[in-house]
Amino acid sequence: MTVRGEPRRRSGASALRPPVAFGRCERCLTPMLRRASDDERLCASCAAGDRAVALASRAEPSVRTQLYRPQSTVHVLDKRRNPLAAPAPSAGRPLRIALLAPPWLRIPPHGYGGIESVVALLADALVARGHDVTLLAAPGSRTDAQTVGLLDSSHPDRIGASVIEADHVARAFEHVEREAIAGRPFDVLHDHSGWIALAMADRISVPVLHTVHGPFDEDAQRFYAAHGAKASIACISRAQAASRPDGVRVDAIVPNPIDVDAWPTDVPKDDHLLWIGRFAPEKGAHRAIRVARETGRRLILAGPVQPGQEEYFAEEIDPHLDGDRIRYVGEVGGRFKQELFASARALLMPITWPEPFGMVMVEAMAAGTPVIAFAEGSAPEVVEAGRSGLLVGDEAAMAHAVTRVDELDPAECRASARERFSPDRVAARYEDAYRAIATPAPRPRPRVEPADESEVVPA
Ligand code: UDP
Repeated sequence: MTVRGEPRRRSGASALRPPVAFGRCERCLTPMLRRASDDERLCASCAAGDRAVALASRAEPSVRTQLYRPQSTVHVLDKRRNPLAAPAPSAGRPLRIALLAPPWLRIPPHGYGGIESVVALLADALVARGHDVTLLAAPGSRTDAQTVGLLDSSHPDRIGASVIEADHVARAFEHVEREAIAGRPFDVLHDHSGWIALAMADRISVPVLHTVHGPFDEDAQRFYAAHGAKASIACISRAQAASRPDGVRVDAIVPNPIDVDAWPTDVPKDDHLLWIGRFAPEKGAHRAIRVARETGRRLILAGPVQPGQEEYFAEEIDPHLDGDRIRYVGEVGGRFKQELFASARALLMPITWPEPFGMVMVEAMAAGTPVIAFAEGSAPEVVEAGRSGLLVGDEAAMAHAVTRVDELDPAECRASARERFSPDRVAARYEDAYRAIATPAPRPRPRVEPADESEVVPA
């Protein structure tokens, strides 16, 4: 974007300073002041986001798997790529993989459930690549993998209860060890389940890869510093990896997958903005309301009010709901959720936390809906600014970006998600990480036939 208007002429002392001009950040369109002598094209917030991304990619020399590439704001779709190509079969021997999901929700989830969506897509993609996959999960889970339901039921109302997680993980470990004793050892246990499996990962005979799904907040910093060396560690964004505690080795950075083909392309656009997620203050539903008010656009809010979020919802959200311009539709799932995404003009992501990934951003892209996100955490990596969305620094910039979002092409949003987050691509990255830790298959020993019984030495 070019800077509009000529700098005004000055006299006296001020003439010594380079003249300033009003312009806009080339990425998020925030109004900014520029000195004629400098060539800064990004606002402070976008530049800080870029620095964080650059730092993250330099920070970990041991990172073996890098999927993200810094994106240019001007993007030309590579038409030679065939994103619809069938999954490539795995190059090496098929692996025997145990995927450990959290105990709380069935796989795939019907409504809320970011980790559960990831595990579902990964399980199917690994099977499509020819691996032997067992999913250890809440009963009722269904994927293309063999499923072992460990507990009697799922526990959507007790997310985080350690008594449930411990029971689930202990049974998973028992299953893995029983298989080894029965001569069917797993090559790798890929853990998505939370804390306990990692804390005990050095007590099991199978190599463990643990995906970090949350932010490295204060508790997590302490936890990973103490237990992070017990398994291989995968992060889901460079921003997340960059915030790990000192001394914790990250072995792979693999983003979360999205199956773009599972999202409808025939839903007409409505004029509403969408905010969807859990009602935690850092996810910014209250800021989305202010932006909608500021722009005069309708806003639909969707998501569960989880235990502990009732007060925030009652004080910051509920008083603004009017059933029309600001509307709350509860927790959504299935086709209704997809239509909500696809019919929206934009997804608002006014986050003020180090978002580790943000499944809703890639879901919006898959639905052909651009994302307007604060440049926090993974957002500068996930959103291709100028192609699948806009990155902004504050609410005022977000309100301005809402007026520009129609310039983005829904087909490009989908293409961006397909090129960078396809399940097969993600599964191939995880496969590399599995092969790096899997015990090599024992070489078949040449069979030596004894000449006669007398040569057989008793043990
Ligand atoms: N979600 C849903 N229904 C809702 C609200 C959220 O299915 O009413 C899903 C959403 O589509 C996404 C996941 O829950 O797949 C939230 O994942 P995200 O990574 O965005 O957030 P977090 O894991 O931090 O809650």
